[in-house]
Amino acid sequence: MVLTDTHCHLNFEDYHPDLDAVLDRARGAGLGRILVPGIDLDSSQEILALVEKDPLLYAAVGVHPNSGNSWNKGTLPGLMKMANHPGVVAIGEIGLDYYRDRTPRDLQQEILQQQLELALETNLPVILHVRNQSEEDRSCMEDLLRILETWVNSASPPFQARPHKPGVIHSFSGNVFESKRAVELGFYLGITGPVTYKNAEGLREVVKAVPLDRILVETDGPFLPPQEKRGKRNEPAHVLYIVDKISEVIDVPPDRVAEQTYANAAALFMWE
Ligand SMILES: [Zn+2]
Repeated sequence: MVLTDTHCHLNFEDYHPDLDAVLDRARGAGLGRILVPGIDLDSSQEILALVEKDPLLYAAVGVHPNSGNSWNKGTLPGLMKMANHPGVVAIGEIGLDYYRDRTPRDLQQEILQQQLELALETNLPVILHVRNQSEEDRSCMEDLLRILETWVNSASPPFQARPHKPGVIHSFSGNVFESKRAVELGFYLGITGPVTYKNAEGLREVVKAVPLDRILVETDGPFLPPQEKRGKRNEPAHVLYIVDKISEVIDVPPDRVAEQTYANAAALFMWE
């Protein structure tokens, strides 16, 4: 069984003491690819150094909405330069966060917009972060989907004529209606540890509603450990628990889920 983790912050301090052991466990668990997303210009640069050392790793470069205050005149040219690196397979993680709200919302949207345009120019898919203010106030997801709708429809050439899909909504936490809107626009949905939590019936409904060929599996390590590892640091080897839960929810054998999600990631990020 070959697995992939399409979102893990292996450059974070949490992994500094034992990154080699983490990567050994990932290989031991059958992982064939791990994508490490940047959150600002400096972390993106660090990740390039990591991917140069280990063929298991691929990078995304981008500025996270919570790092929006680091955005300056040099950021976009810096990202553009890094995007040419052969280990860079996406622009991310980028998006909107109305929960932490560390960056004014209009600035978040402006930075997102500029990076969506960068993705079109560089022909790379995007990795999107979205976090609503609360369960009741879903305006963050609403704003993101509206911005993505405009972006996908205004792309020239249109996305249907492009060799790849527009991207992934990472650690998807929307409802079935929102998941369908995202999939109709051509996006994949990243499924993380919460799918294993007792109270996540809504997310399991999404997994049932979305075709398996649109699902990616991600740990979002060091965050969001699956139920079996709650309270511990998350890491790529734990992606197995997510595959097992998806398998149970949609009643498809785990090796089929692993194979299809691996193929989905390869199709989106265009790695062999
Ligand atoms: Zn992340």
